[in-house]
Amino acid sequence: MKTHEQYAEDLALYALNELTGSERQEFEQHLETCASCRREVQYLRSDLGLLALSTSGPRPPARSRDRLMRAIAAKPRGVSAPAAERPARRGWAWAWAPALVGVALLLAVGSLWRENSQMRDELAKLTGLYHNTSTQLAQAEDRLRLLSAPDAVQVSLNPQAEPRKPHATAIYSPGQKRMMLMASNLAPVPAGKAYELWIIPAQGAPINAGVFKPDEHGNAVIMDHPLPEGVVAKAFAVTLEDEAGSDKPTSPILIVGQGL
Ligand SMILES: [Zn+2]
Repeated sequence: MKTHEQYAEDLALYALNELTGSERQEFEQHLETCASCRREVQYLRSDLGLLALSTSGPRPPARSRDRLMRAIAAKPRGVSAPAAERPARRGWAWAWAPALVGVALLLAVGSLWRENSQMRDELAKLTGLYHNTSTQLAQAEDRLRLLSAPDAVQVSLNPQAEPRKPHATAIYSPGQKRMMLMASNLAPVPAGKAYELWIIPAQGAPINAGVFKPDEHGNAVIMDHPLPEGVVAKAFAVTLEDEAGSDKPTSPILIVGQGL
């Protein structure tokens, strides 16, 4: 079975009543199912077909042209009277006129066919483009609806804030042998552990200044831990130790502050 496009050549021959036998049968079957080909045939058989004779365009296959020439040449000249009654010899130009008209018509058919195909392609492209544009427009409208919604909430998201860092303030008086420490943002201590405050003297080993645990908010205050007299503090530091307290720092220093 031929496709619609493959009937181009048959169409021209059919329009000129030059399609015969099974080819004609097959083409007529196609015509029954193809409105496009029916229109083409009607068009070719109408006066518009003759007007199109001047159309220049792509040439149809040479095979069709030759076939058409042969068909027309083989046909009895004229239709209104038997050939025998006609003069034995007609003018060459007259004899070939139908063939020339036929060729011109075939050229026109080829051209129209090609134009028709191109227009169908264009239409398909435009239809596709229209659908794409419609889809994009619908998406844009959809997004705009969200942005302009009265109940829309706009929140900017950022990296989560780091846990607030532990911080402490120490007040120390060597003369009064007293010190106070106020700490905040301390992490909870593991079971059996506590923070230990150290006075780091200008000379000698760190001195234990008290053991403490922060409350549930990470705050702690320590004061009135007995201290030796006259110690010049170089720095104050907090480490994590056993809750009973340690003689010397055993963990890395968690927070530290320079003395005077
Ligand atoms: Zn068709």
